Amino acid sequence: MLGGGLAGTYLSLKLKERFPGIEVIVFEKEKNPSGLLRTEIINGHVFDTGGSHIIFSRNREILSEMLSYLGNNIVRHKRDTRILIDGEFVKYPLENHIYMLKPEDRAEAVIGFVRVLLKRAKMPKWHPKNLLEWITMFFGDGMANLYLIPYNEKIWKRRLTEISADWVYKPGRLPIPHWEDVLKAAVGIPTEGYVEQSTFYYPKTGGIQAFYEGIRKRAEHQGVKFLNSTYVREIKERNGKWAINGKYVVDKVFSTIPLAELTYALDAPDDVIKAAQDLDYNQLLVIGVALKRQTPHSYHWVYVPDRKIIFHRYAYISNYSPENSPPGRGSILIEVTIPRTRKLTDEDVLNIKEQAIEGLIDLEIIKPSDIAFVKCWYNKYGYPVYTLGHERARSKVFDYLESIGIESVGRWGSWHYWNMDRVLMAVRELLSRVSSNLHEQE
Ligand SMILES: Cc1cc2nc3c(=O)[nH]c(=O)nc-3n(C[C@H](O)[C@H](O)[C@H](O)COP(=O)(O)OP(=O)(O)OC[C@H]3O[C@@H](n4cnc5c(N)ncnc54)[C@H](O)[C@@H]3O)c2cc1C
Repeated sequence: MLGGGLAGTYLSLKLKERFPGIEVIVFEKEKNPSGLLRTEIINGHVFDTGGSHIIFSRNREILSEMLSYLGNNIVRHKRDTRILIDGEFVKYPLENHIYMLKPEDRAEAVIGFVRVLLKRAKMPKWHPKNLLEWITMFFGDGMANLYLIPYNEKIWKRRLTEISADWVYKPGRLPIPHWEDVLKAAVGIPTEGYVEQSTFYYPKTGGIQAFYEGIRKRAEHQGVKFLNSTYVREIKERNGKWAINGKYVVDKVFSTIPLAELTYALDAPDDVIKAAQDLDYNQLLVIGVALKRQTPHSYHWVYVPDRKIIFHRYAYISNYSPENSPPGRGSILIEVTIPRTRKLTDEDVLNIKEQAIEGLIDLEIIKPSDIAFVKCWYNKYGYPVYTLGHERARSKVFDYLESIGIESVGRWGSWHYWNMDRVLMAVRELLSRVSSNLHEQE
């Protein structure tokens, strides 16, 4: 198994559960596995270093399995998240709460929405060519300009015409506004939107890594071996088997590492490597701010479309669990995306960190004297970006992997903007697809 994040660890566990007789080894480049689900606890402040993570799923069976890895170590929440628009903390999702907008913004939002509703009715075969079209044709100019366009430009760091709209249709990804909800919201009646996430769960202690550790411990208990601090740089076929880094010989390779890294290690044909390199992504800086006092709001996280502010979202992570900060104190987690083409120097990181803190101060969320300490974490792979050639590039890489019998899955192993539940589902799908072959090999 290549990669010891959620996908690699969960797939290893499931393989061992189904085929107890086989040996499963996880090759992980970091000293401690966990991938994006890492947590650091500093002076009692809990920070999830891969950004704000919560546990939710529309799939009840998957959700209950996810929670089973935490036992009693769980806090349940009713989501209270906001979008900061013109100084107002408007409840998320916007389309269900437009009554919280200033009257002129509210009017723009409703007029824009009704206009595109009428327009789409006359275009039954319409399909969006890119994300910008999807946003404007489903939400209308009012909501698009107030929130969706500036917010999405900030998170994706690309022109929205360069981003495909196909992924937004995937179940559970982005909520599509329902006309009855929007009209109710216009007259002041709130409704619940993006319901699969409206209740969510979080580990009581240990941050999001506690969820990962539940899976890892079960995998180790089943006999999965972890080879940490082992960067996979070479995978070579030898007489029907695979040699990893010229040292470990295995019968079958499952991969969850980023597709480009996999194709380099395989020394794949140039056109396949080129396709894997075309799969785009954003890097991610996560900035943790420990406060000497409690957070100013009880919200969970806040979306910030304001273009003057460097971050797109911040989370009051101390509101996720009473154990996430010392009594009487609070913690904030800020997320900043960076296009992959930008090479970050230490000075850049320092600048971004400073701008992020200034952003919180400008928005009057904190005062400089509130800060106990600040820490920053870099994630090379943060968000897969669905550029227009995404599906073509993926197919090219997967055709090649299929031809040599290597399976790849996970956020980077499939190159999809997947939450944890979707990763688990994809692992299950993969397992049922390959199970009969593995049976023969056992
Ligand atoms: C900001 C942010 C917020 C999120 N919020 C949520 C949320 O609220 N809820 C939710 O369900 N999901 C959320 N997610 C998604 C979630 O983090 C992912 O779905 C999940 O962690 C992906 O796991 P993975 O194993 O596929 O990838 P990763 O966690 O990236 O694991 C890949 C592993 O491969 C290793 N690796 C890479 N290259 C090599 C190599 N050459 N050799 C050996 N090892 C290698 C890495 O070190 C890593 O451990 C969020 C993601 C982000 C970025």
